[in-house]
Amino acid sequence: MNRIDLKQLTSGQTLDFIKKAGEKPFRAGQIRKWLFENGVSDFNKMTNLSKSLRSRLNEIATVTDLKEEISLESEDGTLKFLYRLDDGLFIESVLIPDGKRMTLCVSTQVGCKLNCRFCLTGLAGFKRDLTAGEIVDQVIKARGKADGGRVTNVVLMGMGEPLDNFKNTVQALKIMTDPDFRLVGVRKITLSTAGVAPGIDLLAQEFPKVKLAVSLNTCDDAVRDDMMPINRKYPLKTLASSLARFPLPKGRRITIEYVIISGINDSDEDAEKLKRFAFKFPSKINLIPYNECQEISYARPSRRAVERFADILISGGHSVFIRESRGSDIMAACGQLRKTAKT
Ligand code: SAH
Repeated sequence: MNRIDLKQLTSGQTLDFIKKAGEKPFRAGQIRKWLFENGVSDFNKMTNLSKSLRSRLNEIATVTDLKEEISLESEDGTLKFLYRLDDGLFIESVLIPDGKRMTLCVSTQVGCKLNCRFCLTGLAGFKRDLTAGEIVDQVIKARGKADGGRVTNVVLMGMGEPLDNFKNTVQALKIMTDPDFRLVGVRKITLSTAGVAPGIDLLAQEFPKVKLAVSLNTCDDAVRDDMMPINRKYPLKTLASSLARFPLPKGRRITIEYVIISGINDSDEDAEKLKRFAFKFPSKINLIPYNECQEISYARPSRRAVERFADILISGGHSVFIRESRGSDIMAACGQLRKTAKT
């Protein structure tokens, strides 16, 4: 019989599991408290459970437990963790302290299928989807390392495309926000997609409360086809329709992420196109100056070019933020995460 990973279950599902196993219902809450509040993954250490229940759980259940291989601290306080999974593969998470906020950037896949030309994760290819337990455990592990023991915000912007691992990502979101031992508030979670349009529509049905970000990066289909091959499947018009349909609570906007790359998408004309595109739905714009790396020949534009680009958008009435990536000295900045232990 396949053992069930209890870190992949919501409170309701844990209760069902415990009842089916013929145990008392209150055991479900006790177990979840160990897993999600205390960060204990070993049944033998769950001391308020009877010895017989502990050994029974060892037979019928398991618990995902990421192994920290390396942790690196940046000069700016950003922490990067490299975890080894049970099958020997590696993923990374990045914990970013920012005033009262403690934001965790979480991975959803080992590698990525989408092959965006500017992104290191894509360059390394795709290995597999993460399970819901592996996604959630990144938050549990990071809480143990965060000052004050709390992760206040989660961004699904690490390795992988969350909407390409839809089922496990949504299950992980349900577990993170489960009212029984909530790890993070639903309004504090941002899902970022490269533009999997049908996934956006599905998300609208299954978990619309999450904040949505889209890595747009250009408003020219020909350029986007080349830069982000997913665009050949879901071109800008299709993507914009899905985004415009997404049910936003009052006052909420979709974040447009625009990695700005010298000579590729940083001209005045590019800014004008983005200015128009960003009116298709309520939006705010994050400009992310490209983080350079040896493997990819794109370059970061000058600060002046970025500001000029931002000014054009601002003159159109948009909210624009220039994002300086954190943790670049430890290869933790946007697009620098990769799947091996070579970091
Ligand atoms: N697949 C999802 C989640 C990954 S988020 C998505 O595409 O949104 C990764 C973010 O980092 C994306 O916004 C991407 O555009 C950005 N990015 C990738 N490589 C980068 C680089 N070298 N410099 C700056 N941003 C980069």
